[in-house]
Amino acid sequence: MATAAPPMPISRDLVRLDARPLSKAAAIAEAAQLLAGAGCVEPGYAESMARREGTANTFLGHGVAIPHGMGADRGLVRRNGLAILQVREGVEWNPGQVAHLVIGIAAASDEHIAILRRLTRLLNEPARLQALFTTDDAEAIIAALSAEPGAAAPGRPAADLAERWDWVLDYPAGLHARPATRWVEAARGAGGRVQVRHGEQAADATALVGLLQLGLKAGDSVTVSAGTPAALARMRAAITGLSAQEKADAAQAARRAAAPARGWEPAGALVSVTGIGASPGLAIGRIHVLANAEAAVPDVPLPLAEGGARLEEAIRVTRARLRALEDDTARRLGPGEAAIFRAHAGLLEDPDLITTTCQLMVEGHGLAWSWHQAVERVAAGLAALGNPVLAGRAADLRDVGRRVLGQIDPSLAGGSLHDLPGGPVILVAEDLAPSDTAGLDPSRVIGLATATGGPTSHTAILARTLGLPALVAGGPGLLELKPGTEAVLDGATGRLHLSPGEADLASARAFLAAQHEQRAREAAQRAEPAATRDGHRIEVAANINLPDQAAFAIAQGAEGVGLMRTEFLFLERGDTPGEEDQYATYRAMLEALGGRRLIVRALDIGGDKQVPHLRLPVEANPFLGVRGARLLLRRPDLMEPQLRALYRAAAAGGPLSIMFPMVTSVPEVVALREACERIRAELEAPEVPVGIMVEVPAAAVQADALARHVDFFSIGTNDLTQYVLAIDRQNPELAAEADSLHPAVLRLIAQTVEAATRHGRWVGVCGGLAGEAFGAALLTGLGVAELSMTPRDIPGVKAVLRGATLPALRALAARAIACGTTAEVRELEAELDAMTRPAPQAAA
Ligand code: PEP
Ligand code: MG
Repeated sequence: MATAAPPMPISRDLVRLDARPLSKAAAIAEAAQLLAGAGCVEPGYAESMARREGTANTFLGHGVAIPHGMGADRGLVRRNGLAILQVREGVEWNPGQVAHLVIGIAAASDEHIAILRRLTRLLNEPARLQALFTTDDAEAIIAALSAEPGAAAPGRPAADLAERWDWVLDYPAGLHARPATRWVEAARGAGGRVQVRHGEQAADATALVGLLQLGLKAGDSVTVSAGTPAALARMRAAITGLSAQEKADAAQAARRAAAPARGWEPAGALVSVTGIGASPGLAIGRIHVLANAEAAVPDVPLPLAEGGARLEEAIRVTRARLRALEDDTARRLGPGEAAIFRAHAGLLEDPDLITTTCQLMVEGHGLAWSWHQAVERVAAGLAALGNPVLAGRAADLRDVGRRVLGQIDPSLAGGSLHDLPGGPVILVAEDLAPSDTAGLDPSRVIGLATATGGPTSHTAILARTLGLPALVAGGPGLLELKPGTEAVLDGATGRLHLSPGEADLASARAFLAAQHEQRAREAAQRAEPAATRDGHRIEVAANINLPDQAAFAIAQGAEGVGLMRTEFLFLERGDTPGEEDQYATYRAMLEALGGRRLIVRALDIGGDKQVPHLRLPVEANPFLGVRGARLLLRRPDLMEPQLRALYRAAAAGGPLSIMFPMVTSVPEVVALREACERIRAELEAPEVPVGIMVEVPAAAVQADALARHVDFFSIGTNDLTQYVLAIDRQNPELAAEADSLHPAVLRLIAQTVEAATRHGRWVGVCGGLAGEAFGAALLTGLGVAELSMTPRDIPGVKAVLRGATLPALRALAARAIACGTTAEVRELEAELDAMTRPAPQAAA
């Protein structure tokens, strides 16, 4: 648990600065004398300490030695105490090992463990430790050994952290590894100590495992404490800046889960195992059951110094490998998926893991055994909190722990995945670690079925992005299946059909062939422009926020950026980026896009995107409050530097457009354009296209009036759906009903396009509907000219548009807006399928 152990007292008279013992024996004798002088031990303790050196190595590493008496001599301890010799010149403890801090321990019980914990934390901070070797300030040594970094007494705030902020966690999935990693990064960037408290527990915000162990769920109250207002502001910005994304992710996951699954249906009655579909697609092959081979980790003691050095090296190499895995995954699957490996690297830095390992080694255990035990203890702690999110994180911790173990001793790397049978198999396992999933060889593993896990686990996400059909939560019966059984795994419906007959096999193969063909077509043509069969071009762009996301978007086939959400430049910082910072970012984005169009959306703050450091008034209904354009017009101090940065970036070259969010009326547009023109003229910058988001019903209804004042529209279907249907876009309970295919939403889109077309303006869509293949097809049929989406959705959208003709899409769209219900609209998807690809079953 992330709470403090009771402190072991260190009194000033037990600290000797600049001690000069001539030998190790003399140092031990001096420490023992101090302890005896303070009444901590009987005189015989000195001899017990000397004997201890014959049975154990008390050199902890990094210049620290911890001589202590024999366990059998605890009777010689009158009260707990520590005697500290600072040996500036150093004293040789063992050949080649020099101690600068000799800490004589007198402990009647296990309380020396608390001291070891602090010491091993200090070993993680070499600069702080080095300073103790030469300081003239005994209090500094006492403080370093007394404080439990990051942890406060249960239920009480850390006394030295004056700045506090109370908050109720609003991440629907709780504090899981990805946001927790961002908290850790912010805490480290904030400098000094940052503490997060929840009830009786406190955690150091720079330590990932401690944070996760708080087991924070949505609705939990936390107090964040820091030493300075700036550090607290930075934490607060990072923490609240993640809320919008976390809520959007949860709502999207709920929407996906609620969408009807369209999979393969066997003709015959087959025995099937049913789990939860985690990654769509069909796999046909023999199953391979991965034995839960927990290799026993032998306990082979070794000298502490060697153990410490090898642990450090194993962690260093593992960290480098994780970085390489992150890079590779980012290139193949995108930065979002790669983030898990950064979280893993964060787990490696957790002091509790290293502390426990060192403690176990000091007690005489071997390195591999100690590390394994430490990982298991922390993972078991996470799993025991009864929170499914944290149970998933225990799997992450075990995954990263196994990697380190493989570095310590390659025979312990967990070989089962390396001994797969030759042919392609459907892999059946209890669960799989994310790095195992990311590293699966798709020529040998064609599908994945796990007994446990959930559809939002990182393993499921990775399987999805790898295009590997997968089911999760299939139950323990899965592991009882006979290896080698022929099966059809359907990742869309979450079913594993066993022993299919010839007819079903043929039908499944035909279904699969059609799927493969479709995927191959999508991949091969993702760089080609999107044009319907009769040659109508649609621009397909990406929604990205940072320059370093541009390369991935282009590789996925993006022809430009249709939405750069600039509020993200503000959300995760503790302050407002100035004109220069913003200018540099827009320039970098234009350069990364190499001449492709960039539409930058002016700040859309308010609603779900709250920026604490702006200290905006609290509103009862922030989605209906001073949001987007309304805020920009009230706060020239925010709008003007941004517009200056944008016009300067445009002047430096590159096709840049400016777009304003949450516009409701003509006077707003007139005022925004006036501001643009004034700033442009001041800077003598070129004119750039200025457009608005259509995401408020009023804007859609009045599109004809607005079209006279703008160069383009981009429809934000996320907000438009929320406002038209009166459903909070972040409410997971209503996620399935917040469907942008609702006929009312589609009619407003149709109306907007008609009005814009009458005035010769083009219309794009940058809300989520643009990235769904069926949605993209309907939008094209409604006359939308540009679709901007998450990069990963681009190949599929381009492919579906290529499969149809414009008249057919227009006819489909006309039928969709005539539908009475969302369900009726969705039924039309089958017609799009029939239009764009041969029906797989019919091909059998
Ligand atoms: C939208 O509302 O559809 C949109 C694209 O803007 P955001 O999601 O940033 O509110
Ligand atoms: Mg919006």
